[in-house]
Amino acid sequence: MFMSEENPFENLREQLDDAGQYLDIDPGVLERLKRPERVLETTLTIELDDGSLETFTAYRSQFNGDRGPYKGGIRYHPNVSRDEVKALSGWMVYKCAVADVPYGGGKGGIVVDPHQYSTGELERLTRAFATEIRPLIGENRDVPAPDVNTGQREMNWIKDTYETLEGTTEPGVVTGKGLDNGGSEGRVEATGRSVTLAAREVFDYLGRDLDGATVAVQGFGNAGSVAASLLADQGARVVAVSDSAGAIYDPDGLAPRDVKAHKDETGTVTGYDASEERAGEELLTLDVDLLVPAALENAIDGDLAADVRADVIVEAANGPLTPDADDVLTERDVTVVPDILANAGGVTVSYFEWVQNRQRFAWSEARVNDELETVITDAFDAMIDVHEETGTPNLRTAADVLALRRVRSAYEGSGNWP
Ligand code: GLU
Repeated sequence: MFMSEENPFENLREQLDDAGQYLDIDPGVLERLKRPERVLETTLTIELDDGSLETFTAYRSQFNGDRGPYKGGIRYHPNVSRDEVKALSGWMVYKCAVADVPYGGGKGGIVVDPHQYSTGELERLTRAFATEIRPLIGENRDVPAPDVNTGQREMNWIKDTYETLEGTTEPGVVTGKGLDNGGSEGRVEATGRSVTLAAREVFDYLGRDLDGATVAVQGFGNAGSVAASLLADQGARVVAVSDSAGAIYDPDGLAPRDVKAHKDETGTVTGYDASEERAGEELLTLDVDLLVPAALENAIDGDLAADVRADVIVEAANGPLTPDADDVLTERDVTVVPDILANAGGVTVSYFEWVQNRQRFAWSEARVNDELETVITDAFDAMIDVHEETGTPNLRTAADVLALRRVRSAYEGSGNWP
């Protein structure tokens, strides 16, 4: 459980209030755009391998659909809660608006530690969830995707469950599928790729060189591991990475792809050859040029923010900084590239996957990566324009102003009905 001041849904609302101050927005409209349209809470009961039954709680929040179908991932984690899913679905709305992809925002989750279950049990759980959300989803309605602890395997199961029950072929009902099941080239790497593009852009904006910069990455799942590898490809020195078991540190720089191979084999980054082990929290206060939080919400609060020694933070996770942390870091002149821009590569390539599914035409990886680069650099430039034009205190508020303008315009353009 989180403390009330760390409730991610309250954090989202506070961020939108901050942005609202830079917009001439009707308070009634702002309140509407701070709340989800609807949240489904459902109970899933599956048979375990030993023949017993186990019951799980799951959610799907559809936050706003004014710009297009609801869009966002499905998370499997023991800390999933109604307010977490609501917050994550809201961040998706504003992320899709910053990237200017034609989607609203949604998010789902199951309260489960997937590491405690067999593949067969997870398949039954996923298909049970897909069955419950079937009336809500569809390529023109709500399009799920991977998130924490889910990936191609789960998306393939959701697609198959939906298509079988509907008696149709509709690959665009879900994104992040395996390549042979209607997935896109470049989707797995997309979140880490956009984090790297955002880092390149912000270093450029600050007149600094990413080549030779030192980097620490907290979290070594899909986003963190790919970002670490691509940042190293850009010449950055990734000196520390961590996962839930701890951190590893090497001042000369780690080889992120080797660390990934080690994690794939052993389940954790710890124990990696020739590196020092540190406690996980120490990573966040290392003296590095760039810090990439790539794990979960609320990784850095106001107290910890006072000890952060990085000059730049690029958020790969959703919501890793509390509003108090933002205040402290703004005061301390630490530049933060917000989640809704930095990790928007995931949903952007999901959009490309959905377009390809609708076209029944597959793009090359080079085309996907080129178009992704255009989306992220355009979004970055638009965020900087807002920052300079309105004088927001930091880039998060600038990105939120940009996004709120677009969502507000769609909301008001549609009219307040029903
Ligand atoms: N779960 C990812 C995110 O938080 C991707 C969502 C998507 O592709 O729809 O952005």
